[in-house]
Amino acid sequence: MKHKFTADSHVHSSNSFDAKSTVGEMLDRANGLGLDFLTITDHFEAAFYHEANGEFGDQTVLLPKSISDVRAQQNRKDVKTELLCGIELGEPLHDLSSAEEALALTEYDFVLCSVHNLKEMGDFFWLDYSEKEIPSLLKKYFLELSESTQWGRFNSLAHISYPLRYICGRAGISVDISDYKKEIDELLKLLAEKEKALEFNTCRNSLLSAKTMSECRDIYFLKRFKELGGKYITLGSDAHKAEELAMGIDGAMDILLQLGYGEITVFKGGKPHLLPII
Ligand SMILES: [Zn+2]
Ligand SMILES: [Zn+2]
Repeated sequence: MKHKFTADSHVHSSNSFDAKSTVGEMLDRANGLGLDFLTITDHFEAAFYHEANGEFGDQTVLLPKSISDVRAQQNRKDVKTELLCGIELGEPLHDLSSAEEALALTEYDFVLCSVHNLKEMGDFFWLDYSEKEIPSLLKKYFLELSESTQWGRFNSLAHISYPLRYICGRAGISVDISDYKKEIDELLKLLAEKEKALEFNTCRNSLLSAKTMSECRDIYFLKRFKELGGKYITLGSDAHKAEELAMGIDGAMDILLQLGYGEITVFKGGKPHLLPII
């Protein structure tokens, strides 16, 4: 890794229904790559927390296991990478009491908030898109992110451009993101005021770099966040297996420098630590 500090703060272990490598394997890989910090953020999906046989597995078993695996690996003396305990809190507003329950499981270093689906709808990954429903979908999405930020029990907002991966990337529908300026500004201003971080999710894209940044869907948000007073950026590869760890992180840091961010943020014990990129 070529920067002063390197962190991957969004990573899934085998305690997520869709991930492969154990916490120990993730830590070995992180240490091999020379990462300073690795934060395990296994899935919590609020509306399905008590659905033991659903798509997401029995999260009431998986999440405590994620925490205990992290705690056990934190005792290792043979690695330099600092291992931190996090959670990806999906759609907390869809079941607040389950969200509170998951948050009470331990003292997390880091809580990432994400929205993969709107209420009573499938994950953006699964939807069939028609051009005319995009404005209403995206407005609802940004509104839910704002409402989640009002609730506020998290440190960083994950993959803000998530629906665009599928609307633009897969369905090939072009979106002029500035059409949603009002909703996005409201959200980013609130995040900045509440001293929350915005995540730059590299989505395991090893081609991410200052040269390819015009193709990156997060640039609009990162720029506007800074203009509206945002300070904290966390970085995550969203790796679901050890080989994917830190993919795109170096490129993301080069992009952050171009955008005028001199530091990345790592949360420890729920507190932001700013680390210089160069
Ligand atoms: Zn996610
Ligand atoms: Zn994730």
